[in-house]
Parts: sequence; C-alpha cells; structure tokens
Amino acid sequence: MSKFSRRDFIKAGAAVGATSFAAGFTPFAIGGATKKVVVVGGGVGGATAAKYIKMADSSIDVTIIEANKDYHTCFFSNEVLSGERELDSLKVGYSGLKKHGINIVHAWVSNIDPKGQVVKTSDGQSFPYDRCVVSPGVDFKWDTVEGFDATIAEAKPHAWLAGEQTITLKKQLHSMKQGGTFIIAPPPNPFRCPPGPGERITQVANYFKVHNPTAKIIAFDPKKGFSKGPWFQNAWERFHGFDSANPTADGMISYHALDGVVAFDAGSNTVTTASGNKVKGDVVNIIPAQKAGTVATASGLTNDKGWCPIDALTFESTMHKNIHIVGDSSVSSPMPKSGYAANSQAKVCAFAVVALLNGDKPGHPTYVNTCYSFISKHEAISVAMVYDYKDGKIVKVDGSGGLTSKEVDAKHLKMRAREAEYAHSWWSNIVDDSWG
Ligand SMILES: Cc1cc2nc3c(=O)[nH]c(=O)nc-3n(C[C@H](O)[C@H](O)[C@H](O)COP(=O)(O)OP(=O)(O)OC[C@H]3O[C@@H](n4cnc5c(N)ncnc54)[C@H](O)[C@@H]3O)c2cc1C
Repeated sequence: MSKFSRRDFIKAGAAVGATSFAAGFTPFAIGGATKKVVVVGGGVGGATAAKYIKMADSSIDVTIIEANKDYHTCFFSNEVLSGERELDSLKVGYSGLKKHGINIVHAWVSNIDPKGQVVKTSDGQSFPYDRCVVSPGVDFKWDTVEGFDATIAEAKPHAWLAGEQTITLKKQLHSMKQGGTFIIAPPPNPFRCPPGPGERITQVANYFKVHNPTAKIIAFDPKKGFSKGPWFQNAWERFHGFDSANPTADGMISYHALDGVVAFDAGSNTVTTASGNKVKGDVVNIIPAQKAGTVATASGLTNDKGWCPIDALTFESTMHKNIHIVGDSSVSSPMPKSGYAANSQAKVCAFAVVALLNGDKPGHPTYVNTCYSFISKHEAISVAMVYDYKDGKIVKVDGSGGLTSKEVDAKHLKMRAREAEYAHSWWSNIVDDSWG
C-alpha cells in the first residue's frame, strides 16, 4: 500500500464528500504538544468527525462526550412503528470507535467555555480542547403548541429521537381500537429529516391496512407540503384510497396542508389547528418545532432562530472560534437535516480540523446527501444531491441530483425493489462508516 502524506490527505479530504475514505494510509504526526479535539455528541456527525480526525492524524487526542451508552439511529425508525423492524436492530455502540483509539466518555455536556476552551459536563468534569466539534442534533421548541411539553411527550410521544418514545408510539398504534383515529402533526421548517413525516404516515398506513383497515390517519401540517410529498401521496393513492386531488377528503389518510396543530388537550387527546379545527384522536403524534441541541444554546453558538451559523469551508462557528458544528444543529442549508448530510459535513469538518491543527489551509470541500424512504417492505424511493462550496456558501451542483421516478409500471417497480435493497445496504454502510 502506498504511503499517504498529510498534504495528499488534505487534498483527498477536499474531494471525498461523503464517500467512504479507505483506511490504510500512514497517519502523520506533527512534533510538539499533543493536540486535543473534544467532540460533543456521538451521533452521526460527532462519531464521523471523531473517527476521521483520528484516522487522519493518530497523534491527535480525540475524545467523544456522549450522553448515552447506546445510540439508536433515527433512520429507519419509522419502520419500527409498522413492525417491519425492532428498535434493537437500530442500536449502535461505541466499541468500534474505541478501537480507533478514540476516548469515549458518557456524560451530559452542560456547556462549552469558548474563551477557556473547555468542555464542561454536568457531573463536574472538564475537558480542555484545541478544537471542539459539536454535533448534538436537535432539541424541541416546547412553547409552539399550547398544552404540549416534554413531560406530556413521554406519554404522547413525538418519537423524533429514536428510543423509548418510538416503542411507546408503536405500542399505542398497535393497540389502537379498530376504526380509531391517528393524528400526526408534522413540524414547521426547518426540521430533522424533511421526508420523515411522509415516511411515517406511509409506514403507519401500511400497518393499519393489514391490522386495522377502518382506521383513519389525519395529518395537520403547518407547511404546504413536505419532501417527496407527491411520491408518498402517489403511494397512498395506490394502496390506501387517498385522493391527491382532494387530500382532505375522508379516506384512510387525509392530509391538511397549511393547517398545523397550535394547541393540544392531553386529557381528551384533542388537537386544535390554526384554522380552528378541533379533532379528537385515539393516538396523537405531535412532532414539535425544532432548534439546535441545548448545549449549543447554552454555549452561545446559536442565532436568534435557534440554529448554529457556521463557515461552510470548515464548519467553524461564526460566533466562537475553535468550535465547529456539524449535523442538524448547523445552518447548512440547502443541505437537509439528514444523517447522510451530517456524515458528509463531519468529513469536511474533520479534514479542516486536521489541516488547521497542523498549520495547513483547509481544502475546497464538496458535500453530498442521499435519503431513502420505504414505501412498502419491497419498494423504496430516494433523493440524492451533490453540493459544492462557492462564494462562502454551500450550493447545489446543477444536474447532480436525482429522485426516483414517479412511474410505477413493472420496469420501475423493479427499480424500486432494487432501491429497497440499496436502502438496507445504505444503513449498514453509514453505520459502519460513522461508528465502525
Ligand atoms: C424518523 C426519522 C427518520 C430519519 N431517516 C433518515 C434517513 O432515512 N436518512 C438520513 O440520512 N437521515 C434520516 N434521519 C435524520 C437523522 O437521524 C439526523 O439528521 C442525524 O441523526 C443528525 O445527526 P447529528 O449528529 O446532528 O445528531 P444525532 O445523530 O441526533 O446525534 C446527536 C448526539 O448528541 C448527543 N447529545 C446531545 N446533546 C448532548 C449533550 N449535551 N451532552 C452529551 N451528548 C449529547 C445525543 O445523545 C446524540 O447521540 C431521520 C430522522 C428521523 C427523526
């Protein structure tokens, strides 16, 4: 195997986007004191950044501080709701990252002191850093739906962070009375996983079709639509008697655009929408408006909208030096808030951090996103896009993206069956690439 110099590495990093970077090059170490990188959050963004920094320069001391011992991927957690998967199949541990020589600390980070360059945990530990990478995912704006808060969400779960709440929601859906009503309230933009609500409606409808065929799903969306909307609606028409020309009609699924839930009475399970509709559900799933993870706010990294502005070349915060933010918390539009985007951003960030710690200039980055959604067990659709860095911004590369065809003839259904296989291998690949 040929040797890989630091300069080659940084050049490769600039072009690698989110493709797997083959390990096997010789790590380089620079003289002088050991450099310390502390990564806050061991989800997709944090795990990937830590791993790629360590692979690039094994002399850097890399520590991840993550609240939980195990991580459950949100990706494919909607399949848990339909019974296609068990939550356990989405569980990821940290032994793979330890093998790379990364220190793993399980603790809650209360805040980062940007002046002192120290990460502080709620149990009193302090972790000094030369550079800090922050990827805490999303938190919720609890004041946007009157009567709905974090405590109520334990019993009436949003299930937008895969884990206990996913199981609770699944149990509620699976024990809902025959002919009962499931109300889902997608969040306003921007939010984690733009196709997620459509995917959730599809998965729940697939479950109801077999186990509760007279059940109803009513979606009250504050937006005028959602990612892959026409594709999902086409599937609802094919399988669930939905009428896209009249989406609010009374079928198994009715979809109310521009009429989000503004209030919830947990006692009677009744939602009130912006237009004044009052509807009682048997199961209610309110997915609240979102913002960057709390540690970002506590550390002064967020703007007035609650998200973290960054320099897209390095993902360094524009508010505090030496702190980089990747993943859902960052302002990385036009990239969506997705796991694949977080993985891609983390690689760009890792290469930049290594370059900066070694006195080099970060290379020119590219970024990528792909997102699969299951329509049924054997049918999936996807969206993909490549992004470039231009004039200080992330921009879409014209003609680079793609969406699954809307056609559903025999030829295209075969392609969708292949997409279902690709989706499964995508999950294995991103998990291995981030935590393996
Ligand atoms: C239903 C659903 C389906 C999805 N499907 C897809 C999909 O098919 N494809 C796709 O690409 N994406 C999908 N996503 C989106 C994807 O899960 C997120 O975009 C991705 O997880 C973002 O990565 P992140 O690193 O920003 O946050 P996360 O992966 O959430 O990681 C954040 C980590 O930080 C930890 N943390 C937070 N705060 C602290 C703190 N103060 N101290 C210590 N630790 C902390 C958390 O415990 C967590 O482990 C889906 C999301 C949902 C909800």
